[in-house]
Amino acid sequence: MIRAYRQEEREAENEAWLEETLASERAEQAEEEENLYCFVCGRPITQTRQRISVNGAHKHTFTNPAGYRFEIGCFREAPGCGQAGEYSDFYSWFDGYAWCYALCSSCRVHLGWVYRGEDTFYGLVLDRLSSSKENFPSPS
Ligand SMILES: [Zn+2]
Repeated sequence: MIRAYRQEEREAENEAWLEETLASERAEQAEEEENLYCFVCGRPITQTRQRISVNGAHKHTFTNPAGYRFEIGCFREAPGCGQAGEYSDFYSWFDGYAWCYALCSSCRVHLGWVYRGEDTFYGLVLDRLSSSKENFPSPS
């Protein structure tokens, strides 16, 4: 009797383990699908789960001193970005934050800005990120 009970318990454990494994596999796949890629070369830049809200919104529309309009999204991390230039607070779109350029670390195209203040975040131009890499050559 005791033996049979233990056997059942073990099967239940196995099932829980299997469920957990499948769930984490599904989560991994979802994460992969939510990558955002460089619009030029297809390098993974950030993920949708890195989206944050700054001053109450994820998306912001700004016009720079040269008159160009940008729609940017705020991201906590952008591991595919490199930084360029010195931090400057000239015409910063976010009070209290200095900025420098955020470039694709693969093809160096300008993707947005890194903001540094009491914390650091990325403001990336949304139409320079692609949610699919289908149109790009496979990464080498
Ligand atoms: Zn690129």
